[in-house]
Amino acid sequence: MALLGVTVSPFPSKSIPLLPAGGREAALATLQAEIASCAACALAGRIPEARPIHRGKGRIGDRIMVVGQAPGVTGHEHPRPFSGAAGRTLRGWLTAAGFDAGALHDRCYLTSITRCFPGSSGASKGDRMPTAAEVTRCRPFLDRELALVRPELVLALGRLAVTELLGPAPLAAVVGTVREVERADHRFVVLPFSHPSGISRWLNDPANRAHHDRAIALLAGQRQRHGY
Ligand code: SF4
Repeated sequence: MALLGVTVSPFPSKSIPLLPAGGREAALATLQAEIASCAACALAGRIPEARPIHRGKGRIGDRIMVVGQAPGVTGHEHPRPFSGAAGRTLRGWLTAAGFDAGALHDRCYLTSITRCFPGSSGASKGDRMPTAAEVTRCRPFLDRELALVRPELVLALGRLAVTELLGPAPLAAVVGTVREVERADHRFVVLPFSHPSGISRWLNDPANRAHHDRAIALLAGQRQRHGY
């Protein structure tokens, strides 16, 4: 399968030294402790309480990284990523691509663009989209995770994650394509998806559903080719 060329991250990160695996495990533990103690957005008055998700995310050696938008209220109350409805939908997508039932939590590194529940959207159902300032504050954590975990394949879920990894583009233009991205001194393949939240209506459009089906087929192809 041909890739659509290399996309250099729209958000250049600082160079992060490559460590041996043992050093990377220690560095990841340090990073997760830093994330756990971060209260930057609460101090900036953007969220009432910073409760970053930092546990149960994954391990050094996970070959797939899943990048969502931000924890939902379920994640806020039960700090395990993708433990709510979005996780159930995502597990269904992985199953459709031929993965076993435990793959999401047993073999994928789970992260998000921001790490604290942003609160509910005032105008509509669902959670508030993190602001550009929140994304900027949280960005170094994602860069360091990419540099330490060094995933081969990244599943970008939803418009915010797709924009962060590929730059601005309509979901319909990128879901169903494969990109190779260079970021945090690491090169990896990105498969974009819509967000698996039940709030998203993007998949109700038959044309978008066709893009999604193509993305599942591409994910299945990646699994078969690379033995994920
Ligand atoms: S969203 Fe990120 S930067 Fe903001 S408080 Fe939570 S961990 Fe810190």
